Amino acid sequence: MRESFIASICGLLFFITGVLALNWQLWHSEIAVRKQEAQLSASLVDDMIDEARKATDAVRTITTGLCTPDAQRLLNREAAMGPHLRYVVLIRNSEVWCSSLLGNKSLRIQGSTSATTNLTLYPGDEISGGSPVLFYQTPGYSGYIGASIGFSHINIALKTASDKILFTLVVGKNMLPYNSVVKPLAHGKLSLHSIHYPFSIDYEPPPFFNWERLITQGNFLMMILAIMSSIIAWFILRYLNQYITPEENLRRAIARGEIVPFYQPIVNSASGKISGFEILARWKQPDSGFISPDIFIPVAEKSGQIIELTHVLMMRVIEDLRTVALYMPEGLHIGINISAAHEHSEEFEYDCLQLLEIFADKKITLVLEITEREPLALTPKGKAMFARLRSHGVLLALDDFGTGYSGISYLNDFCIDYLKIDKSFVRRISPSPDSTLLVDCVIDMAKNLSLSLIAEGVETQYQADYLNTKGIQFLQGYYFWRPVPFTRLAPALLLSSRRVT
Ligand code: C2E
Ligand code: CA
Ligand code: CA
Repeated sequence: MRESFIASICGLLFFITGVLALNWQLWHSEIAVRKQEAQLSASLVDDMIDEARKATDAVRTITTGLCTPDAQRLLNREAAMGPHLRYVVLIRNSEVWCSSLLGNKSLRIQGSTSATTNLTLYPGDEISGGSPVLFYQTPGYSGYIGASIGFSHINIALKTASDKILFTLVVGKNMLPYNSVVKPLAHGKLSLHSIHYPFSIDYEPPPFFNWERLITQGNFLMMILAIMSSIIAWFILRYLNQYITPEENLRRAIARGEIVPFYQPIVNSASGKISGFEILARWKQPDSGFISPDIFIPVAEKSGQIIELTHVLMMRVIEDLRTVALYMPEGLHIGINISAAHEHSEEFEYDCLQLLEIFADKKITLVLEITEREPLALTPKGKAMFARLRSHGVLLALDDFGTGYSGISYLNDFCIDYLKIDKSFVRRISPSPDSTLLVDCVIDMAKNLSLSLIAEGVETQYQADYLNTKGIQFLQGYYFWRPVPFTRLAPALLLSSRRVT
């Protein structure tokens, strides 16, 4: 869980960083595009001012100081030849004394006509019909020569190809935004200054972060980023999982319900019918299939998880058996393996009683299998618990009998009901002479102690027959059944439900 969280966070951080870098790149590209468009706009305005400059140069020949018809014709011709020009005028003392416009009436020019300023933005005058005007002026005979550029032409220059950006023409302390009116200059925008004339094209900087821009221009890269983030998260998860301890791994498996019961039937040697089964834990891993209990039971015992594991297992067994409760044979023998830790577990005692109670009408026999391989030092508390369980009909079996050294002392300490002859003895049984010496000893000992016997690891008919002639009542082994999932046990239970012995 923690590893998945860390891996997801790393993947997410990678994605966010990638998106920010992509956004930064797109932001820069957009700034560059705006600058390029501003350059284009400035060069259009430059061309218009060039036109005005040429027109004013051409009328320098008027040096009489009088607005003669010839002088007016010349002004007229220049104004008409400049496609972007509205009029060309001669100015003296801020007053137009000769104009390309018909009527040649006396006009006043607003604003400065100082020698240094040769460009002015006028909000509009009676000549321009109230629309803004860019006015170019240059010193001429006894005053100035001026030419005006029309608002509609400036507007075209301020309109960008994409239509998204609105440019503003800035001249001195005035500005003329696209399709607007002349206003006092407000700062805070990006400027592109003309290298030929004293004006600039101002524009808004693009927003730093823009989802729309990211989605329209960066969708492919964002997709790649998402895929890469997932791959990175997956690798991190794999890397982190390498360092998970077997204990932690098992804890998760228990929590995820990956520990499941398998059932190995125990057969009545005389009738050949199923008299019960032993519950054997399996770890069902999603990737690598089933893991043997020999690997994870020791981990569970060492890390103190065996109680929880057995609890989970017993709950699954109850669940399974409930599905066949109607036709479950009576008197089933249910063997469950226990470890040293169980003698202190009230939870385990409760689970045993619950199992008995749920299937009380089926008179099941719960047999706890204590292995001789792992020593179990019985405490008074443990003794008391086993005594209580016994009083409810729970039986005890000594598993793997003959493989350890404590068998005899167990027989003393616990009230053992069954001995389970270890498969290493059963495996020896064959037609060859002396192959049965050891197993015969174990059988004799059990008989002398008046204990019932279960032989496990029966793999051949010869072994089954031999054990049958020796009077062993219960047999367990691959010859009859391998441990199987409940789906395979259930039909067999149905068949044997008529008679269980
Ligand atoms: P066990 O209690 O002696 O269980 C019998 C083992 O012998 C099982 O191995 C079973 O599959 C195997 N077996 C049965 N018949 C034959 C046969 O004919 N030939 C051979 N070669 N093997 C046979 P499994 O299931 O791998 O279990 C191994 C051990 O893990 C068990 O030995 C038991 O000690 C332990 N174990 C299994 N489940 C649990 C559990 O839920 N709790 C505890 N504490 N221990 C468990
Ligand atoms: Ca066993
Ligand atoms: Ca055994």
